[in-house]
Amino acid sequence: MTETKTFVRNKFSEYYQKHSPSIKPPTQIEKREFGFLALKERFMIRHKGFKNVNDLTKFLKTLVPSDVYYSSAYYEKPEEKMEEKSWLGADLIFDIDADHIPTPCAKTHDKWTCNNCGTAGKGVLPEKCPACGEQKFDEKTWPCEVCLESAKVETTKLIDMLTRDFGFHSKEISVSFSGHRGYHLHVETKEVQALDSMARKEIVDYILGIGLETSFHGLGEERGEMKSSVLVGPSLDDSGWRGRIARGTYEFLLTTTPEELENTGLKKKIIDTLTQHKETILESWKEKGPWGVIKGVGVEKWRKIAQRGADIQSAKIDTVVTTDVHRLIRLTNTLHGKTGLKKIEVPIPDIERFDPLKSAIAFKEGTVTILVSDAPEFRLGDQTYGPYKNRQIELPTAAALLLLCKGMAEVKEEK
Ligand SMILES: [Zn+2]
Ligand SMILES: [Zn+2]
Repeated sequence: MTETKTFVRNKFSEYYQKHSPSIKPPTQIEKREFGFLALKERFMIRHKGFKNVNDLTKFLKTLVPSDVYYSSAYYEKPEEKMEEKSWLGADLIFDIDADHIPTPCAKTHDKWTCNNCGTAGKGVLPEKCPACGEQKFDEKTWPCEVCLESAKVETTKLIDMLTRDFGFHSKEISVSFSGHRGYHLHVETKEVQALDSMARKEIVDYILGIGLETSFHGLGEERGEMKSSVLVGPSLDDSGWRGRIARGTYEFLLTTTPEELENTGLKKKIIDTLTQHKETILESWKEKGPWGVIKGVGVEKWRKIAQRGADIQSAKIDTVVTTDVHRLIRLTNTLHGKTGLKKIEVPIPDIERFDPLKSAIAFKEGTVTILVSDAPEFRLGDQTYGPYKNRQIELPTAAALLLLCKGMAEVKEEK
């Protein structure tokens, strides 16, 4: 092992020696499959099972993995091969990761390189390499504050949907910061456990607002008193997607620019009308909404605008994670191998003021001298660091470990 790897391993080992009592086992630990990424060789160890949390922490202290996962599924025999495990059910889980949210800053801190031809680019990963069409990339992403905040906004929307639209009690939902770039949400109730992939896909579609047809949510023409038809639509306080479409449309109209309206596919004349009457439109929400108030903006135009409103209201979850009923997911209070931060649970009432870059710090003592090749400016706790380029510097352990885990620095040899 390189010196840097040894250093990281020693730190992770120290963490599991000291903090294993804080590791909260998943419910019915004996029915879960566990997986570990070995720090030394970075390969995946799967199909492990534990009878109790003591056996698990003993294992963590010996192996010192870079990442610890457990199955959202319950199995009769978790240690068997996939086909022989006997699936008994699975929690309903959601993953919100900044990778799936197009933030403007992604271009400044995220890079990818094609594994096949070496083509490199910045920002969100393309589906295929633009040069050779391969789909395997080497990614470098950063847990930036703006990205983390946008992931939190998506998480808040998801919680709102699960409690208000699906009727889950907030006690049945647990939310955590992943330790890297996003949040995980678990629903653990009897009702969800038996859902198959298709059923979970339906839930995903609802949350992403896929296939929403605004005409089924109240937008349309109604015969008025004078025989002429009037436009009607959903109100802000309607329940389900009706209200969400209204609130999203309101938000969109409140914040939109003429350029954005153009992207919606509206013609210049309509955009001018909407911009001119912005005040009237926003005022109109106090009564029946904007749907009928502006002459010349018909049902088709409102449909396009409402669609943008729906986009704003949808929560950007990773579809694959939720539909996979055998998924492994990171265990709370274990370390993230890419950051040295820990995955940590966030009580739902505290989510607004939750600061992941403070609460997830696992190492609070000491300093380390490292050689940083290239690192952006970042904050951890109350302190801001960087940017650094080819620089030797002494940093608090957590900050140093973040750069080491990200491959942006090496430990300085002790003389
Ligand atoms: Zn390529
Ligand atoms: Zn960012």
